[in-house]
Amino acid sequence: MATSTISGYPRIGGNRELKKALEQYWSGRIAEPDLLSVAANIRVTNLTTQRNAGIDLVPVNDFSFYDQVLDTTALVGNVPARYGWSGDTVDLETYFAMARGRTGENDIAAMEMTKWFDTNYHYIVPEFSSETTFTLSSTKPFDALAEAQAAGVDAKVVLLGPVTYLLLGKSDDDAFAPLSLLDRLLPVYEEVLSKLAAQGAGWIQLDEPILVTGVDAATIIALKSAYARLKDAAGNAKIIVNTYFDHVADIYQDLVNLPVDGFGFDFVRGGATLNAMQEHGFPAGKTLVAGVVDGRNVWRNDLRTSLSLLQAIGNTAPEAVIQVSSSCSLQHVPITIEREKQLDDEVKSWLAFANEKLTEIAILTRGLTEGEDAIAAELAASDALQQASAASTRRFNPTVRQRVATLTPADADRGLSAAQRAEIQTRRLNLPLLPTTTIGSFPQVPELRAERLKFDKGEISQEEYEAFLEQEIRDVIDLQENLGIDVLVHGEPERNDMVQYFGEQLDGFAFTRYGWVQSYGSRYVRPPLIFGDVSRPHPMTVRWATFAQSLSDKPVKGMLTGPVTILNWSFVRDDQPRSDTCLQIALAIRDEVVDLETAGIAIIQIDEAALREGLPLRRENWQHYLDWAVNSFRITASGVKPETQIHTHMCYSEFGDIFQAISDLDADVISIENARSGLELLETFRSEGYDKGIGPGVYDIHSPRVPPTEEIVDNLHRTLTVLDVKQVWVNPDCGLKTRKSPETTAALTNMVDAARKVRETIS
Ligand code: GLN
Ligand code: ZN
Repeated sequence: MATSTISGYPRIGGNRELKKALEQYWSGRIAEPDLLSVAANIRVTNLTTQRNAGIDLVPVNDFSFYDQVLDTTALVGNVPARYGWSGDTVDLETYFAMARGRTGENDIAAMEMTKWFDTNYHYIVPEFSSETTFTLSSTKPFDALAEAQAAGVDAKVVLLGPVTYLLLGKSDDDAFAPLSLLDRLLPVYEEVLSKLAAQGAGWIQLDEPILVTGVDAATIIALKSAYARLKDAAGNAKIIVNTYFDHVADIYQDLVNLPVDGFGFDFVRGGATLNAMQEHGFPAGKTLVAGVVDGRNVWRNDLRTSLSLLQAIGNTAPEAVIQVSSSCSLQHVPITIEREKQLDDEVKSWLAFANEKLTEIAILTRGLTEGEDAIAAELAASDALQQASAASTRRFNPTVRQRVATLTPADADRGLSAAQRAEIQTRRLNLPLLPTTTIGSFPQVPELRAERLKFDKGEISQEEYEAFLEQEIRDVIDLQENLGIDVLVHGEPERNDMVQYFGEQLDGFAFTRYGWVQSYGSRYVRPPLIFGDVSRPHPMTVRWATFAQSLSDKPVKGMLTGPVTILNWSFVRDDQPRSDTCLQIALAIRDEVVDLETAGIAIIQIDEAALREGLPLRRENWQHYLDWAVNSFRITASGVKPETQIHTHMCYSEFGDIFQAISDLDADVISIENARSGLELLETFRSEGYDKGIGPGVYDIHSPRVPPTEEIVDNLHRTLTVLDVKQVWVNPDCGLKTRKSPETTAALTNMVDAARKVRETIS
């Protein structure tokens, strides 16, 4: 007899209630009790929704005001000393101070934030040192359980497991191993579990996703000692060790021999776990949480395939107690497709967001328990849908397929070497040493956003909107001319978002109205959906690029988003490898690159802000990803003549470990974030003999601070101790869209001054 569950449910509210309440609370417009009541309503609605959809065991404590890792930091009282916490229960003020910093006289920075595994969700990074101590400092899991008990719901309390919590943290001292804190941390976890048990908890799910990343022997030892103790502490409550985002085949035996009550596996992304299970069996009588409905993507489940998978799992583990589940928390998908009235029926029929996935899980559970006949109608409907979608002309574009099939290595090769191209480009562009430029966007001031909104709502005509954009571009070009910048940009005023802007003009993409997914805190995104073969029906940026170029004798860069970034920031069809979809996007953007060249644009920048974040969780899979990602970029960039200069941009600096791939992109110039880093990365460029152009960001654009000229001068001098003056470009760390105009002008003035000063000292 199988039951149904999920790993977690979105916490943002069906109408983004949490965002609205948080932002009102932060700005002092509502008081704490109001915020608490909005949150309580969301949680109760979530419980009811899941129960009504037929979920037997409903997760609780998956709600969070900001982030589940920060919740754990609060739970175990690991508040960094600088927040001046009294050491009692972590109150909301302290909690949000850690998340967002404090302003005013108590000015203090927020804790660091980073990506949650390979998702676009960001967590607050715990801080550890040899001094760290832990005490139980929050009642959140107990309150969540009590709330479910009061509602009469059979609940499972979700906690982040202690091993993952420690391994996700950081320490100032590189030699310090956070895992050494386990013995200090476990008493708090023991206390939490025994309290939950005393409160009547039936199930406790401890999430240990770190286990899918390929962990070392020390981690396994830690895992064993931790769970032996936790099981003892949990009394009658059953403990599930839950994993997701990849397989656990490499540690399978150690994992399933932990003395707990069950294990959660992701069978969508971690199929290899099933092989390990076939080889080694599964302990009799224990619970197997089978994640078969994809929590990371938005497509309808192929129920027949999933039912067969569940049957295979059941046959492999005949004495297991099976819970049918989502592959991971549903926090990574939007809540429901019901409100998406603007999507056409066909595309809509392919989609399943969180609520639709609940129904799928309930159906599969019934099928597994009662047999196929019990869900015959649902299976037939699912089969029909799969067939219709596979045959849909919306998904398959023979021209695109043909183009991809006939690609040759020459299509990913610019013909001449970078050095040969550089010579030709230098002659053509005639730039000074240390040329100055920016990354693309200029401040997206409220007036600009307001105008776009009016246009979207039909309140102003196309002509009015375009006239407005032209004026914006004129202003940005004038500004750059006055500042004396060498390579100009048009400022990207027409773009709502660097991926959405392109997706909206490409075939094969769809967009939701309400399909929000939490990125961090109160920031939610609506990723595009790539459902079909991608092609470019018409030029996308040529109009704006040529308009901008017509205003200046200096080169104006054409600005594009690269194929890997478009892919990584979208929900991608899962009926073909991601690499195939990426090639299609690459060809579409390549057409744009060629059109820009034909229109007389001499420098074209192809941003790959998200190349690194697509890296697989397991290192053994990195090379394959990098190979196809780099190839896609090169296809995008290689349709043009040697005299056209290709730039790329990446907004991070930790790429020492993928340096070769960065170099293999073969871009003529790369701009990177570097203002807050030292020379370490630049040393890598030198020692690896990188001979192309590099623009290490000379100032940080994440803060309104205006860098003094002397600081940029020093920064450049330091860069020149490592890199050849002929290869260095001068630019900020990233685009300027989040900045305000006055500070931008001031910062760029100093940047141009600094470049001039340094030029004088060398020529
Ligand atoms: N060209 C983009 C901009 O300047 C790049 C943004 C990014 O890298 N995130 O806004
Ligand atoms: Zn950037």
